[in-house]
Amino acid sequence: MLLQENVPLAPLTTFRIGGPARFLVAAQSAVDVQRAVAFAQSKSLPLFVLGGGSNLVVSDSGWPGLVLKVSITGIDRRSAEPDGKVVFDVGAGEPWDRFVSQAVLARCAGIECLSGIPGSVGGTPVQNVGAYGQEVSQTIASVEVFDQKDGQVRELCREACGFSYRSSIFNTTERGRFIILRVAYALTPGGEPHLEYADLKRHFEGRETRPDLAETREAVRHIRARKGMLIVAGDSDCQSAGSFFKNPVLTQQQHEDLNQRAAARGLTVPSYPALEKSRKVSAAWLVEKSGFARGYGFGHVGISTKHALAIVNRGGATAAEVLALKDQIQQRVEEIWGVRLEPEPVMVGF
Ligand SMILES: Cc1cc2nc3c(=O)[nH]c(=O)nc-3n(C[C@H](O)[C@H](O)[C@H](O)COP(=O)(O)OP(=O)(O)OC[C@H]3O[C@@H](n4cnc5c(N)ncnc54)[C@H](O)[C@@H]3O)c2cc1C
Repeated sequence: MLLQENVPLAPLTTFRIGGPARFLVAAQSAVDVQRAVAFAQSKSLPLFVLGGGSNLVVSDSGWPGLVLKVSITGIDRRSAEPDGKVVFDVGAGEPWDRFVSQAVLARCAGIECLSGIPGSVGGTPVQNVGAYGQEVSQTIASVEVFDQKDGQVRELCREACGFSYRSSIFNTTERGRFIILRVAYALTPGGEPHLEYADLKRHFEGRETRPDLAETREAVRHIRARKGMLIVAGDSDCQSAGSFFKNPVLTQQQHEDLNQRAAARGLTVPSYPALEKSRKVSAAWLVEKSGFARGYGFGHVGISTKHALAIVNRGGATAAEVLALKDQIQQRVEEIWGVRLEPEPVMVGF
């Protein structure tokens, strides 16, 4: 296990922002994870678990303790389960999109709409990653974790992960407790692609034959690239943490209040049914209609020219500049629409 000191974190994130880690270790096995945790505990160092760095804002001062980068690899296909599903056991350090590509090649359905999302497989259960009508909670069978409470490796079934919109026990009730080692995905061999999302339907409009999984994957990547939501080298619009704010989930009462404010301005708020008696509204719409159009900003930090929800580093940005723009957006949206936007990325070292 190689322990490095004073390692810059910015290059390990998609935002390319943030100071150094006091110590950094890349763990390639459960034993490495156990040793790294023991090292941090013995030195009373705070521990931060790093995946692909695609959902983070790292502070300009960095991380004062140990950063544990989970680099456990391997994609193992188990034989078909009694329910006909095929289970893939995937190391937490595998790049997520490589796994999606392999699953699609193997003609296994269930994650094709999640093509092109950056980050690691271990990062996906944390915020129940979702896009274009799919969420990982629909296909995760179990998650193997190292439990920092008692030093044991254990398997959590899907129900134990407490998944909901952009949420799980890993980023709420048990935040900081579990280190994800492997994730088991149960996919449907020979299954049809999930084509419910409006953008995807539009993409295939006029086609007589149903697209297959590979075509769906390509369509999703194409749509994502258009929105700056696919990492493309040299495109500063994707030097970001993806969507910066979650789509707010409102009660009926809050939704009616928002609709009244919109009607007074001759506008209609795009919204979708969420849980029972609640509506999810478009955070991108709220941001844009509060005066933050695509391309907003000057200097180092701004809003993507392709998507109102992404705050981007145009080169040389600091975390302080990102947070200043975040505060400005939250304040304006709340003043005008009465809705408090909640950031999606994890704040590290603030
Ligand atoms: C261009 C772009 C587009 C994006 N599009 C989407 C999208 O469509 N949908 C979506 O849901 N997200 C999206 N994201 C956000 C991000 O890609 C996902 O949340 C991703 O799953 C984060 O994984 P990661 O490995 O990069 O985690 P990191 O950013 O490294 O970490 C995020 C959090 O997960 C924790 N974590 C990571 N790995 C582990 C582990 N092994 N064990 C325990 N905790 C861990 C970290 O401690 C941290 O709290 C996008 C981001 C970008 C930059």
